[in-house]
This record gives sequence, C-alpha cells and structure tokens, in this order.
Amino acid sequence: MDIPRIFNITESAHRIHNPITPEKLATLGAALRLEPRARVLDLGSGSGEMLCTWARDHGVVGTGIDLSQLFTEQAKRRAVELGVADQVRFIHDDAAGYVSDEPVDVAACVGACWIGGGVAGTIELLARSLRPGGIILIGEPYWRRLPPTEEVAKGCLAESIADFLVLPELLASFGELGYDVVEMVLADQDGWDRYEAAKWLTMRRWLEANPGDELAGEVRAQLTAEPARYAAYTREYLGWGVFALMRR
Ligand code: SAH
Repeated sequence: MDIPRIFNITESAHRIHNPITPEKLATLGAALRLEPRARVLDLGSGSGEMLCTWARDHGVVGTGIDLSQLFTEQAKRRAVELGVADQVRFIHDDAAGYVSDEPVDVAACVGACWIGGGVAGTIELLARSLRPGGIILIGEPYWRRLPPTEEVAKGCLAESIADFLVLPELLASFGELGYDVVEMVLADQDGWDRYEAAKWLTMRRWLEANPGDELAGEVRAQLTAEPARYAAYTREYLGWGVFALMRR
C-alpha cells in the first residue's frame, strides 16, 4: 500500500510537498492562534512538517495519516529531530474515511483533497473529526489566471479548466457549503519554485544513482521537459492556498 513510486522519487527530498514555504507555514500557524495542547488532525500529512513545526512552535498535539511509507518515516524522524515525538504521531495508512476517536480542534487536508473525493467531500470528512467551533484547513489550487484554452489547463497538469476555480469563486464555494472563511495564506510563485524546482535536482541525482531503474526513462523525460512546462503553465496560471474554515 503506497502512492505511485514516481512521487516517492521526485519528492524524496521535500519537507513540504506543496508550494507553501516554511515561512508561510509558520505564518499560518500563528494566524490560527493555536492554543498549547490544541489537537490537530492532518490527512495526507506528507513528511509531517506542519504538525512537527506547530508542535514545536505552539505546543499543539496531533496525528498525521499518509499513504506514503517513505514520507511517513520522514515525518517520524522530523518529530524526533524537533523534539516533539511525544506530541505527534504519524500513521502510514489510507486516510480515505479516517475519523479521529476524539474530536479535534483543527482538522486539515493540505493539498490532498482527492482523499475525500474533492473539496466538498473532504470538508465533510474532516467535519466528522472536528469539535464544535473547530477549524478546518483546506489546501487547494485555484486559477491565478484563468487558462484561455483547455490546452493551457492541460499544460498545468489539470484535466480541464473546470478542475479549479478562480480565487473569488473558490472562497464563495466554501460559503455555499455552509462555512465562513476565517483565514487564508496563499502561495506565491517563489513558493511554487521551491516545490517544483526542488524536484529537478532530486531527479538529476536520482538518475545518476539509479541509471538502470525501471523508472529511469520516465524520470529522465520529466527532468528534460519539466522546467519549461512548469514555467510556461503552472507558474503562470496556478495559484495555491490554505483556507481556514468554520461552520456557520
Ligand atoms: N500535506 C502535506 C503533503 C501534501 S502532498 C504537505 O503539505 O507537505 C499529498 C500527500 O497525500 C502525499 O504525502 C501523499 O503521500 C498523500 N496521499 C495521497 N493519497 C493518500 C491517501 N489516500 N491517504 C493518505 N495520504 C494520501
């Protein structure tokens, strides 16, 4: 049970598997006014940077669930490194349908909303773990510029323009689901570079170490094509943010 191996290769050196930077992750943690011992649930927790740094900086406790064995191991190591291993735990599992035993103060899914079958389904899933008055965090892309053609949307690795909304529409859609947007931290193009460009050096080094691997051809093709594709499409058209929601 794991995510497709290609992601475990290209993102093996990432601490944050999203366009949000460590600085913005810290901004978000501060913006949420987290109390010590606040309970946080993180579905698709990746390498655990959000839970681990918020445990260190704000004293939160919590659980992360992630389908990547590699990322989950990295998260556990990061917790030890930051001295918060007694505050956070990381579970290697499919987070689809996961509901915590005890209600949490913050229920998050940052950049993995397919876990609940899309934004609306993920909000519904997270709400089942949330205490009354708690905060839901959703990390999700939006169109920074609306693609003029379906071809441009595909260049952004979306299936179609309809995959994402523009920011005002995305914010309004949370209202239509019965939630107030109470905070947000948006990524910028530098943050996208940290997420996307960091894959290139990882791929190059992996290729040098694994020339005979069955995925070497795919990784080589990605390394060759990605910088120009990314600069032409994702970097120009796609925005990304984390949105904090409270039930009306
Ligand atoms: N929230 C993290 C990771 C985002 S990347 C961060 O911001 O760094 C998306 C994550 O979802 C990856 O770590 C991937 O392994 C995980 N994932 C994908 N499908 C999943 C599933 N069904 N259940 C749990 N995690 C999943």
